[in-house]
Amino acid sequence: MTPTISKVIFVALVIGWYLIRYEYARRSRREKIARSARGPVETALLLISLAGLGLVPLVYVATAIPRFATYSFHPLFAWLGLFFAIAALGMFHLTHRALGRNWSISLDVRENHKLVTEGIYRRVRHPMYSAFWLWAIAQALLLPNWIAGFAGLAGFAVLYFGRVAREERMMLETFGDSYRAYMARTGRVFPSVL
Ligand code: SAH
Repeated sequence: MTPTISKVIFVALVIGWYLIRYEYARRSRREKIARSARGPVETALLLISLAGLGLVPLVYVATAIPRFATYSFHPLFAWLGLFFAIAALGMFHLTHRALGRNWSISLDVRENHKLVTEGIYRRVRHPMYSAFWLWAIAQALLLPNWIAGFAGLAGFAVLYFGRVAREERMMLETFGDSYRAYMARTGRVFPSVL
């Protein structure tokens, strides 16, 4: 494991995520929206998250900027980063497949939206956000730079904590008692310990 391979793994994570998402994003454009919690706040949260998980680390990979924040590379961290990156991509694949036409980059409820509560959604109600946390951890382990490495955790934390309660409110307004019961038997990003 070398610093270059570690950077290549990070870029492969970004490309892998894009390829998984591309097909669902294309298909979901055709699905009509019944209600939405989109707005300027949601757009700002998305942009911050995108900067932290994508723009800042990719600028670092391409240019080594910000140089002052670089620290020495440890192969063990990079190996762990590879493990987290693979786990993140696996989770992305499973969550996109499970959500199918119900997926949205933002907070939308589709016409005939189906509440998914099985498979990867059985014990955890936000497994796609679990996958983004795994990505952010992988980024911190793969990139030996205090800013580029940790920008993912910071950027995604802003999106996650700014969005998850509103998303759950929207789901409760749409699905009522079924979502309430689903919340009672699941954890947000980690299976709840019964
Ligand atoms: N928070 C989920 C989904 C993220 S995608 C996760 O982390 O896995 C965001 C969209 O998914 C929202 O527009 C919402 O309408 C939809 N969604 C969230 N949970 C869902 C579920 N259990 N079943 C179906 N759609 C869901």
